[in-house]
Amino acid sequence: MHDERGKFLGTALYSSASQIALRLISREAVPDFLPLLRDRIRQAIAYRERVVHNTDAFRVVFSEGDFLPGLIVDRYGEVLSLQVLTQAMDSESARKTMLSELTGQFKPASIVERVDPRIRELEQLPVKASGLLEGEKTLTIVTMNGIKFHYDALEGQKTGAFLDQRENYAAATQYARGEALDVFCYQGGFALHLAQTCSKVSGVDSSRPALEMADRNVTLNGREIEWIEANAFDLLRDYAASGQQYDTIVLDPPAFAKSRKALDTAIRGYKELNLRALKMLRPGGILVTCSCSYHLSPAEFTGVLSAAAQDSHRIVRILENRTQAKDHPIVLTVPETAYLKCVIATVS
Ligand code: SAH
Repeated sequence: MHDERGKFLGTALYSSASQIALRLISREAVPDFLPLLRDRIRQAIAYRERVVHNTDAFRVVFSEGDFLPGLIVDRYGEVLSLQVLTQAMDSESARKTMLSELTGQFKPASIVERVDPRIRELEQLPVKASGLLEGEKTLTIVTMNGIKFHYDALEGQKTGAFLDQRENYAAATQYARGEALDVFCYQGGFALHLAQTCSKVSGVDSSRPALEMADRNVTLNGREIEWIEANAFDLLRDYAASGQQYDTIVLDPPAFAKSRKALDTAIRGYKELNLRALKMLRPGGILVTCSCSYHLSPAEFTGVLSAAAQDSHRIVRILENRTQAKDHPIVLTVPETAYLKCVIATVS
């Protein structure tokens, strides 16, 4: 890759279809991509050995965050889950190299590929189904922060569990108390953690399969949690109207702003949720509020929370301003790698 005056810029992976035609992989000339791919996977694993603790479920490779654009690898105990998002990573030689490196490093029981059909279409890659690449095992149990979770490699959203929240689960547990409501609970990530310190925990989600898995997770950990299948917006409106109160509320909605264009609508959604939650918290209550929309900046998210604080006439003190777990590294020069915001606050 050279600039218009012929000065050498670096080496990039090329996609003939994507809006992102070039993805920089090195400032140097790279004569052969495969040894670099192998080396970067090794570096990514070495980085996790330093920063990931107390779990056998973590992101091994985080695309641009590990200078491996288009490759995501998650480890769930003996099962590896892989996502290929670009033409260069989809080539037969790249696939062969990554599989041999991952197999050598982890000796997994199986490797599963999770396919996002929309991304394959955008990259003009042939249609492909999710499935096993190696081995047979698709069901396993993983542990994070001492809590066990079922993992089904071929079911669920994203690549399964929400590994990026792992450190936020632990942080939230430090403050959570009393009666707790986990809104957008999915398979119970926050709820199961809150159950360690709270007297009563309820989880809300609109997805029945997610709640069924959440309930299996509760049994696995010998806890008691109430699951409510509902649209979170309707439920919060009804609960707020009927004067329902909590000591701890978690809000972890899906990404409302999938593009910059959707930002205004997204901001209204975040504002409404946070406003209702603030109104429902008892004095001294704890709000754990998240946004995984990359397009909503941390400053904009704080702005939404301030507006909700004003409108609810509550005083909100920030205890922790957090982001994604360290196995989803944020590279300063690649702003897209920072997407998760998690604010823990006390409300009086
Ligand atoms: N907190 C979870 C992850 C949440 S992902 C964890 O830590 O694992 C977002 C969740 O919101 C998904 O489970 C999805 O089913 C749910 N969801 C999306 N729209 C919803 C709505 N309008 N009402 C309730 N749940 C919704």
